[in-house]
Order: sequence, then structure tokens, then C-alpha cells
Amino acid sequence: MSRMVSWQDLDPPEPLADLRWEEFRRGRQVDGPPPTAPVAAFVSQTALDAMRDHATSSPGAEVGGILCGQAYRLEGTACVVVDASTAIPALAADGTPVHLQFTAEAWDHVFAERSRAAADLEIVGWYHTHPGLGVFLSRTDRHTQAAFFGQEWNLAVVLDPHSGDIGAFFGPEGVATAFIPYAAIAPAPQTPSPLGPLSTALALGQPASVPAPALEPTRPALGARGIRPGSPLARMLLTAAGLFAAGVVILAIEGRGRTQA
Ligand SMILES: [Zn+2]
Repeated sequence: MSRMVSWQDLDPPEPLADLRWEEFRRGRQVDGPPPTAPVAAFVSQTALDAMRDHATSSPGAEVGGILCGQAYRLEGTACVVVDASTAIPALAADGTPVHLQFTAEAWDHVFAERSRAAADLEIVGWYHTHPGLGVFLSRTDRHTQAAFFGQEWNLAVVLDPHSGDIGAFFGPEGVATAFIPYAAIAPAPQTPSPLGPLSTALALGQPASVPAPALEPTRPALGARGIRPGSPLARMLLTAAGLFAAGVVILAIEGRGRTQA
């Protein structure tokens, strides 16, 4: 189904809040010095479990969803730390083995769930599966990433439920990157969403001929516990969100009057 959908015009991204590494690290019990890469990605075990459960629930058809969390500017550096703490499955999406379309109903569910469970978080990326095809970003995926997840730190996660492989890609170019898993954190306090209702439809396609980029290995899981309520989970950033293209993708951004086919 490729109906026209509305997509609320979002506020431009706000400047990223500063992050104190020691506080962030302690909250997740992540070891090591501050990251030095341009972008450092952290994905909670809760989000990983949700993505893997979603992926394995559908070994024969693609599924996907959004990643919520926060992005920070590491204090005194140019490094962006992105923390994907929550994954929200798009349960009503319409998937085939090589194609995934997020219907308007799927997005309605995603954003309702986001308002309920992750209202204080931003959309930092998206995820989807490639059953039996491996972990890479297809041409369509790259288009989606560039068009709708254009921030340097926007994260695209791809999972193959057959092999169990998982990979992460960053920025408008969809560059393969490593990420650091950390154990679940305490639920964030509930605050009203600054975004309001969002809805859209999207579709994902999977040209089978796109070669897979080399992937950096992900690091082993690091133990962690809860984040303290007073930790610097400030607010900030962007609001973007998702959507994707496909063999056929139609996406309209209401307010901008942008339509893709
Ligand atoms: Zn894909």
C-alpha cells in the first residue's frame, strides 16, 4: 500500500547538549576513556533485545522500527555520543522477504508507543531486518538514511535473523560503524513529548544486488546497571524520523509538500 501520508513538520534539531563522559560512563558502567571517534554509538541491551526479538519473530519477512534515545556533544570535544536506549517496533508494517513497507497504521502505532514509553527521548535512528540476506545498507536503505536520517550521528541498525548478525551504520552516507552495548537503564521519567503526533508511511526495499560494506565488529556487551535520575540526560537534538523508500516508496512531508515516489 502506498497511500499519501502526513508527516508533521518537525522543529529543526537543537544544539546537542554537553555530555560529561564520567557521568555517562558510570551510569551505564561502561569502561574506558572518553571516545575519540567523530561519533560513538551506545545501544542499550533493552533496545538490542527488542530488535532481536522483533527480528526473530519474523524470519520470513522484513520488519523494522525506530530507535529512541539521545545524542550529546562530548564536553570539550567534537565527538558526538549517541545513546539508543529504546527500540520501538513498527508492528503493523507490511513486510516481504526483501521489502518492508511501514504503513500509516504502523507509524501510528510507533508514535503512540513512543509517546507512552519514550516521550522524553528523541528519535535517533531506525532499524530493520534482512532475513537471510546479511547485514548491509541497500541502495534504498541509503536513500532512506540520507533523506530522513541526515544527522551525522543518526543510526541505522540492520539485523539478519537467520545468522543473528547485527550491524550499525551512521550518518547520511550510512557508514558502517561499531557500537557499544550496555545493560538496561532505569526507565526515563515521563514528560510530554515536544513533538506531538506524527504519522507517516514508509516503505523499505531491498535491491538484492547491492554489495555489503565491510563491517566493523561490535564490541562485547559491557555490564551496566541503571542510570541515576540526576544524570545528564538533558534534552536536545533533533527530531527526525523515519521512513524509507522501496521499490516503490511514496512519502509526503506535510507542510513541506514533499513527495517521493
Ligand atoms: Zn535494508
